[in-house]
Amino acid sequence: MKKILFATSETHPLIKTGGLADVVGSLPPALKRLEQDVRIVMPNYHDIKNCEPGRYVCTIRVNNSDVNLLETRLPDSDVIVWLVDFPAFFGTPGNPYLDDDGNPWANIGDRFSLFCRIVTEIAMNRAYLDWKPDVVHCNDWQTGLVPALLSLEEHRPATVFTIHNMAYQGVFPSAAFTQLNLPGQLWHPDGLEYHGMLSFIKGGMSYADRITTVSPTYAREIQTPEFGYGLEGLLAYRRDDLSGIINGIDTTVWNPETDGYIPNTYSSKTLDAKVNNKTALQARLGLTVDPDVPLFGLIGRLVEQKGIDLILACLKDMANMPLQFALLGSGDKSIQVKLQDFDRLYPDKISVTIGYDENLAHQIEAGVDIFLMPSRFEPCGLNQMYSQRYGTLPIVRNTGGLADTVVDTLPASIHNKTASGFVFNDASPGALLEAIKRCLVLYAQKPLWRQLQKNAMQKDFSWQSSANQYLTLYREI
Ligand code: ADP
Repeated sequence: MKKILFATSETHPLIKTGGLADVVGSLPPALKRLEQDVRIVMPNYHDIKNCEPGRYVCTIRVNNSDVNLLETRLPDSDVIVWLVDFPAFFGTPGNPYLDDDGNPWANIGDRFSLFCRIVTEIAMNRAYLDWKPDVVHCNDWQTGLVPALLSLEEHRPATVFTIHNMAYQGVFPSAAFTQLNLPGQLWHPDGLEYHGMLSFIKGGMSYADRITTVSPTYAREIQTPEFGYGLEGLLAYRRDDLSGIINGIDTTVWNPETDGYIPNTYSSKTLDAKVNNKTALQARLGLTVDPDVPLFGLIGRLVEQKGIDLILACLKDMANMPLQFALLGSGDKSIQVKLQDFDRLYPDKISVTIGYDENLAHQIEAGVDIFLMPSRFEPCGLNQMYSQRYGTLPIVRNTGGLADTVVDTLPASIHNKTASGFVFNDASPGALLEAIKRCLVLYAQKPLWRQLQKNAMQKDFSWQSSANQYLTLYREI
């Protein structure tokens, strides 16, 4: 049995801004089911909810501050969560990174530096908990100083650093290094220094024993200038210690057989019932109700990462094809306005809903035939996995986790029954349109389409298989 300490800035359902929270809400319980001793440590934010109030355990002194540690549990599990309680930093309303007005916390470097010091104390069993982890698993830049600080300790635990998105790095002016009172040995270009600035993410990348990302393809991509944001050299240098493990999905929440949000539940054996979700969705969104017309869907943040500009460039052509399109998302204001224009121009064929709506997201996954995910980069991506589970075939760009989870429909993959969607290469409107046309040809071949749906639905996207891969990694170090 391994003792594993998970250090994170967010955990579902306590507090969530993105995919990291989902990973920390699912992976530790999955490791627990593999009989490992896993605990989570995170800041005690003002806005934490959905858990029992933390019980006081001890006070730890770091950098001239007294910090309390509280203990609670992850709901519906017996995973212990330690909350780092320091009201001066974490006691104000807002999310982990932004204040209530949406501005980044001015002292965000101080906040996560203090958090990292506390994690280090716990990791070294200096927090009166009588528990020393074998492995400290750190996540994203907010925990990047932990592997760096631990590198200075004797008899330290092994460290793993997981990158959920390279776009966020925690870079501060050099003055922050002294201000945060960090040990001088860490200030050099192979350490925390990044072009004369202090980089938290480099702490993880330079000092962790192993680095992981959330898909094997993204692990390769971040070693190139296009995806590496200037850190591709360091990552390429560490390639023997770098690997990708795909995230799982919550297979109880995303299950077409039990989904309470959808009008008609179904399985791969009762796929005929899926069409009732389609007609109900068409009616809900004001599209022409027609069980036969191919219905495309998209759910996600409306930002450049997701390739929404490619969709915009294709929408006029799509409106002239025999298809319908339902989109749900929010994000960039100018993108929202342009999308809504198409909704107004083609009300029977194109539906655009701006907002965040879990209920509608489930109804789209269940109701549409084809899901569009033309991302420019995608560390892992979840919707393409939900889609496959719902017998909704995804069209994805050949990048990151999309490339690792969707098998393109080609003669060989049709033959061996692994084909589960459509993959295209170039981030261009032409390439996306080509994939849409290819998909329409196959949609017209009903028995083949049904087989593709079944191939997709039987794939295993559960956390259990990812947890097994992480456990293998922990055992190696
Ligand atoms: P990312 O983490 O980059 O936003 P993912 O595909 O990994 O993309 O995960 C996004 C998650 O958020 C998915 O569960 C998706 O269904 C959900 N989501 C995104 N936008 C919306 C929205 N407007 N309404 C409902 N759910 C959404």
